Amino acid sequence: MKPFGYVRVAGVDEAVRAADGRPGARFLGGGTNLVDLMKLGVETPRLLIDVTRLPLDRIEELPDGGLRIGAMVRNSDLAAAVPVRDRYPVLSQALLAGASGQLRNTATTGGNLLQRTRCLYFQDTSKPCNKRAPGSGCPAREGAHRDLAVLGHSEHCVATQPSDMAVALAALDATVHLHGPDGERSVPATDFHRLPGEQPEQDTVIRPGELITAVELPPASPGARSRYRKARDRASFAFALVSVGAVLEVRDGVVRRASLAFGGLAHRPWRARAAEEVLRGAPATEETFQRAADAELGAAQPLRDNGYKVPLARNLAVGVLSDLAESADPADPPNPPAAG
Ligand SMILES: Cc1cc2nc3c(=O)[nH]c(=O)nc-3n(C[C@H](O)[C@H](O)[C@H](O)COP(=O)(O)OP(=O)(O)OC[C@H]3O[C@@H](n4cnc5c(N)ncnc54)[C@H](O)[C@@H]3O)c2cc1C
Ligand code: SF4
Repeated sequence: MKPFGYVRVAGVDEAVRAADGRPGARFLGGGTNLVDLMKLGVETPRLLIDVTRLPLDRIEELPDGGLRIGAMVRNSDLAAAVPVRDRYPVLSQALLAGASGQLRNTATTGGNLLQRTRCLYFQDTSKPCNKRAPGSGCPAREGAHRDLAVLGHSEHCVATQPSDMAVALAALDATVHLHGPDGERSVPATDFHRLPGEQPEQDTVIRPGELITAVELPPASPGARSRYRKARDRASFAFALVSVGAVLEVRDGVVRRASLAFGGLAHRPWRARAAEEVLRGAPATEETFQRAADAELGAAQPLRDNGYKVPLARNLAVGVLSDLAESADPADPPNPPAAG
């Protein structure tokens, strides 16, 4: 048992002051990832700053038609919120595809974004791991990497980002709001998580002592449809092998707008810009969707045991885009339920 301090804060400024200049401090959201990692000895904070009572637990309509989601909004509340189900079904579906009902009742929006990789070596302190102990090596490269990255990895780390919600936020062009010792700033969700490069210990661009305060969604285009689909080893309670979040707007048989993000393929949600280039202005056909997926996945560099992810990602993307294109009829139900 390693001793640590605990403080509960009531305001954002108080939270930021409590963390300022204390590298051993960690904000505590629902604790569903942080506390697990403490039990494993992977995280050894000296101070837990409990932020769950901060007044950041609301989902607010914005004047431009977007939504502001407080960082303390629980995953289950966010998935169930009517504006999210109606206007951003990809986000609701991604949340419901993650973890379990009990975990979603506890997990927060901020904590979900910052959950750590599920790479086995990262979670096992008896093994080397560049992400946990920089410079110690990456045994996953030659070892167990079936679940790990095929895009954007480096010789230092081949881990994947595990959050389903983050993939939906990348597809939706969300913005992450932060408050830290140097004030407030905002980062596009697509730039929030990083590729591993030479510093795999840094999952995101968050700076020391910064608190996530909110996530903002831009207005949803009335003609657009969105969907999340996840392939996993079990039907529930399992992380994505590959997932796809997509927003598609089709008019007169032509793709007017498309955004596509993959989960389970990289160290961050993989926004598929090359695929989107192919899609924009093209006929909304399966042939187009196949070309788009190939344009993106041609850059994949699978390891010995995870090559299956490339055709899996292709099939998921083509299937989701085809379904979205077919459901362009407004009478079609926009938000099919997703298993939890
Ligand atoms: C068995 C199991 C299965 C799971 N399956 C899935 C799955 O399929 N898909 C999926 O996406 N997730 C899954 N999860 C992960 C789960 O979604 C996360 O554990 C949860 O979202 C983390 O949220 P939290 O509030 O509990 O974070 P915490 O554990 O409290 O915190 C996580 C990290 O975020 C930091 N933090 C928390 N809040 C803030 C903030 N506001 N600002 C700055 N830093 C902050 C903490 O310091 C910590 O580093 C699973 C978890 C378990 C245990
Ligand atoms: S893939 Fe990353 S997290 Fe996994 S062992 Fe290698 S360095 Fe560690």
